[in-house]
Amino acid sequence: EYWLLVARDVSKMLRLEQMRRDFVANVSHELRTPLTVVHGYLDMLDPAESPEWAPMLAEMQKQSQRMTQLVEDLLTLSRLEAQDSLPDESVAMAPMLATLRREAEALSHKRHTIIVQDEAGVDLWGSNKELHSAFSNLVSNAVRYTPVDGTITIRFSREADGSAVLGVRDTGYGIPASHLPRITERFYRVSTSRSRESGGTGLGLSIVKHVLNLHQARLEIESEVGHGSLFSVHFGPERVHPRNDASL
Ligand code: ADP
Repeated sequence: EYWLLVARDVSKMLRLEQMRRDFVANVSHELRTPLTVVHGYLDMLDPAESPEWAPMLAEMQKQSQRMTQLVEDLLTLSRLEAQDSLPDESVAMAPMLATLRREAEALSHKRHTIIVQDEAGVDLWGSNKELHSAFSNLVSNAVRYTPVDGTITIRFSREADGSAVLGVRDTGYGIPASHLPRITERFYRVSTSRSRESGGTGLGLSIVKHVLNLHQARLEIESEVGHGSLFSVHFGPERVHPRNDASL
């Protein structure tokens, strides 16, 4: 009798959870088209033609870009939530690190020192696309939450037990310890104003968490306020394979 009630509650919860997922996915999808239209027309307006409108136009462009990013991030999360596994491709880490360096440099505009250390000498098994999106989110956070003249270090290394670690270290604002347990929740932010200013959607780390779960990888965060943070992604030995030199 009791177990029957529990089972009924659980199945109701699962149904509600599925409804929530579908709702978010549908709304995000429906928002995409009107946003594309607004964005498209805004891009066609020339601020030089009416200088008094230029600041408003710039703000509208910025906000419509923010909204587009938000919708894209929500769609990414919905897609990840609906998946139990990802393709198991070979993920070549040398080109991956080169891409991450370019992305960090583009975001930083030479305002930070960017260091990339490729020490592991191995590659990974996983989804190229999703791992790139996870790493890229960590790198973008490191740049966005580090004041000018700071240093971002991206390091791919190997542990004694055969596992591999991608570390993204910054010398930025840091995160108070009390916030760490909730930092990967959707829309969770330490400082809303700073996050807004930095152009974030509040969904980045949530996407990272989902991607890493699908890879059975573990995220470790160390941080000290005023000194910086280290986000380390740990891949078990089963995710690691020798680098194919022919592909270099
Ligand atoms: P956002 O889009 O707000 O950056 P994220 O999910 O990527 O959303 O990050 C959640 C929050 O965690 C951020 O708002 C910020 O407060 C904090 N955070 C993330 N990465 C860092 C970092 N490298 N340094 C300091 N704070 C960070």
